[in-house]
Amino acid sequence: MIELIEILIKNGLIIDGTGCASYEADIAISEGRIVDIGKKLSYKAGEVIDASGLVVSPGFIDVHSHNDLVPFMGQPIENLKLLQGVTTELVGQCGLGVIPCIETERKVWKNYISGVVGNPGIRWEFSDLNKYFNEINSRGLKNNFAALISHGAVRTYVMGFENRIPGKDELSDMCRIVDAAMEAGAFGMSLGLQYMPAIFSSRDELVEMCKVVKKYEGIVMVHLRNHDSSIVDALDEIIAIAEGSKVKLHISHMRSYNSRELGCSAEVLIECVEKAVEKGINITFDEHLYLSGSTLMTQLLPPWITAKGSDDLIARLKDKEMLEKVKMELSNTKTRYRGWDNYSAINGWSGILITSVKIEKNRIYIGKTVGSIAKDMGMHPVDFAANLLIEEQTGVGIVTLNVFSEEDTIKLIKHPLQMVGSDSIPAGVQHPRLYGNYPLLLGKYVRGKKAISLEEAIKKCTLLPAKTLGIRDIGELSTGKTADITVFDFNEITGFEDYNHSTLPPVGIKHVILNGKIAVKDGKACLGSYGRVVRY
Ligand SMILES: [Zn+2]
Ligand SMILES: [Zn+2]
Repeated sequence: MIELIEILIKNGLIIDGTGCASYEADIAISEGRIVDIGKKLSYKAGEVIDASGLVVSPGFIDVHSHNDLVPFMGQPIENLKLLQGVTTELVGQCGLGVIPCIETERKVWKNYISGVVGNPGIRWEFSDLNKYFNEINSRGLKNNFAALISHGAVRTYVMGFENRIPGKDELSDMCRIVDAAMEAGAFGMSLGLQYMPAIFSSRDELVEMCKVVKKYEGIVMVHLRNHDSSIVDALDEIIAIAEGSKVKLHISHMRSYNSRELGCSAEVLIECVEKAVEKGINITFDEHLYLSGSTLMTQLLPPWITAKGSDDLIARLKDKEMLEKVKMELSNTKTRYRGWDNYSAINGWSGILITSVKIEKNRIYIGKTVGSIAKDMGMHPVDFAANLLIEEQTGVGIVTLNVFSEEDTIKLIKHPLQMVGSDSIPAGVQHPRLYGNYPLLLGKYVRGKKAISLEEAIKKCTLLPAKTLGIRDIGELSTGKTADITVFDFNEITGFEDYNHSTLPPVGIKHVILNGKIAVKDGKACLGSYGRVVRY
């Protein structure tokens, strides 16, 4: 008698996630798991997927996502990860997570992080990780969610945005919150050392908090203090913290800028990582694959003028003397502040593209660079930017064009400790990395540039992140594992790097199986919500 199963994927080219060579086979799925892999399997299946000519791989694991609030945002944003082959994402990144966050007590934190995590227009209050997991679960998840506890959220909860080291009781409160999150299933903690309030944190504070994560053998994922030529000092700082706490370390979006004077080459970054490995530190890092970054226009300005918030900044931007000082500082490549990168010097004003404004009459600037607009208007770029920021109440989105080099990106991708994270930001006018990071890797860097083999690339998106985080049941196609599977056409897959049309969907993802259910069929998302919360 022929055994009855739920799904049979036939005749696909299996790339199993381990980095081993591909082979042709069928995969049988039942009750959420892979029950058999082999040639010409003869099961009777409820659903048969013909994968002839297609690659069958584990579902991708996005190790760096800011989609914390996406389960509350509805369509179409909820399906964007699934449509690029991602089945699991890790949120709570860059120290900018949503736990703990209680509306009445910590409005300042909500306002601060909404430029990154977005604002779904609901009342969100997550006193702890369990509350967050329960609430996202009850909304129905389109893909699996895992989470980190964020140092920034914890510090703000305990001591606000205060520029001082924590007292003994405050530090033990912070450690207690991290401990409770680890107990509830966080995979570790994220640090956002370039952001408030972590810019005020000391080494001792961070070592003590990392020790709590170490107690659970979790991971600490870090947005470094600086990404300009001071990135080596920033790496030294965090490597010393990992040495002091013995915690497993992961550097988020580890890239520096494509500027001889104000950036740092991939070779130097890799050397820092390898030195840490020699010291016995357990270290990995990730990248998104785009050459341009995205941020807020206020980030162009030196931190002393932005430090007191939006209203104060508007007043200061109206002060002529103050603006002269800004012009002088921005044009001097030697201007340095801890936690600040001088983007207009790194990239030139012709490399700063305006992507979002709120006022109708200013929409003519979208898709143009500050350099070209200022030239057309016969103005200094700082004067133009100041006027625009005043009119827009400081809320202007920009893209830093080609701030990273392709050559360095390829060198980093080739490193065995590198894995792939999207750094997806679902707020404001979005960067295309929210839409097509994984297809861009496979289309541009693997099929096009042949930077690494397809098997290696898949490992960086599947088993390597699963092992690094300590998730045992996904990331690999083998019997008994959870059936999270992505089926794609390697001959056509790609994502788009068009910053004026950032919402272009990727091509080439054909089917996605999530927890044993078909979640994407023939490139279209299905209606069901088959995702789950993944706890450490
Ligand atoms: Zn970051
Ligand atoms: Zn990030």
